[in-house]
Amino acid sequence: MADTFLITTTTTKRNRPDDETETKKKLMTPSPQNILTDPAAALASTRHEFGEHGGVNMSIEASATFTVMEPETLRRIFAGELGPDSDYYVYSRHFNPTVLNLSRLMASLEGTEAAYCTASGMSAISASILQLTKSGGHVVASRTLYGGTHALLQHFLPRTCNITTTFVEISDIESVDEAIIEGKTNVLYFESVSNPTLTVANIPELSRIAHKKGVTVVVDNTFTPMVISPVKLGADVVVHSISKFVSGGADIIAGAVCGTASLVNSMMDLQQGAIMLLGPTMNAKIAFELSERIPHLGLRMKEHSNRALTFATRLKKLGLKVIYPGLEDHPHHELLKSIHNKDYGYGGLLCIDMETEDRANKLMSYLQNYGQFGFMAVSLGYYETLMSCSGSSTSSELSSEEKVLAGISPGLVRMSVGYIGTLEQKWNQLEKAVTKLQEYGFANKN
Ligand SMILES: *Cc1c(COP(=O)(O)O)cnc(C)c1O
Repeated sequence: MADTFLITTTTTKRNRPDDETETKKKLMTPSPQNILTDPAAALASTRHEFGEHGGVNMSIEASATFTVMEPETLRRIFAGELGPDSDYYVYSRHFNPTVLNLSRLMASLEGTEAAYCTASGMSAISASILQLTKSGGHVVASRTLYGGTHALLQHFLPRTCNITTTFVEISDIESVDEAIIEGKTNVLYFESVSNPTLTVANIPELSRIAHKKGVTVVVDNTFTPMVISPVKLGADVVVHSISKFVSGGADIIAGAVCGTASLVNSMMDLQQGAIMLLGPTMNAKIAFELSERIPHLGLRMKEHSNRALTFATRLKKLGLKVIYPGLEDHPHHELLKSIHNKDYGYGGLLCIDMETEDRANKLMSYLQNYGQFGFMAVSLGYYETLMSCSGSSTSSELSSEEKVLAGISPGLVRMSVGYIGTLEQKWNQLEKAVTKLQEYGFANKN
């Protein structure tokens, strides 16, 4: 670390080995600590970057382009002989050191060899699918997906790339197996806990059947960072919308692809890389901000989960139809119990099925405007509770039939449970609004 404190001239770069020692074609190599099983332990063992002047936080490398001392070096970077592992960078649409540092944290979080961050969750998803398929390729995907991902697979990719998707009921392993065509299907795609019905994917079993046919398993883990570790359970690639829990501030749009070093390097390939060529680049300043939030992601997830479980349990007692995988009556409770990282609970999302859109709207409006319990807004992972009626918002890209098939009732209220205030204070607000609604005969009793 000593050289961190050297006053450097612009000609010296720290931690950079001599050109002569670095001859192998090497961009990124796996980090050994990523095999740690607890995501918080893995994060704490990730290399901590100090700032250029010894600051406890890393410096922000806010440069679009990077200089070299010898013209020969630039040639070697472009030939792939020198890369970020040896602290050689060329241009920030390719690897950027600050984005790479955040990406190392994402790799540790998910227990993958490597990761790279992108400008949004959707760009991480589309770039991954494009990288893993080709024209004429085939995807098997859960029919219960984030609306944007569903539209990408259903409408955009068939039109633009001749990549088709068969949508399946992801909890019906046999039908997933039937839909996967050996030699034709490239990717099996699903969400670890699906939006908005909170069905839990059997990641070990799905990975097993996909791998038997040589298919890459891509899991969107946006709903359950820390709670579920899909790669540990057999999946190959994890995609994230960092805009949600990982960010936690509802102020930034960002995404990540976590997978093998060879996948990440292929996505940066100058001729064939989906991130390099489509350019969904994360800004270094954004990467810095996000890297400051990851150390407390575990604490936040625990409290999101704790409050979601408490509220779900109590709401059910009030007679509401509650969907939460932490409740024993949820069809996937046992499955989630067997695959989650115990310390982080069952996740921060719960749904209340109000059956009709009118009743759902009444509930949300009471909760926001009468109970001061939360905000009517899409998205999730914020410190305040966010509520939306999925059928008419985040899943409105689906047709009515698709919504029925996906089990999305028109009165489904999705809640991303926040951790602001005290638990009892927030519960009082929630209970007050629900009771008032019941008095007026709007809440369904069962
Ligand atoms: C929000 C979300 C996305 C899209 O992410 P953006 O960051 O908004 O592009 C993808 N998947 C899930 C599950 C999401 O919740």
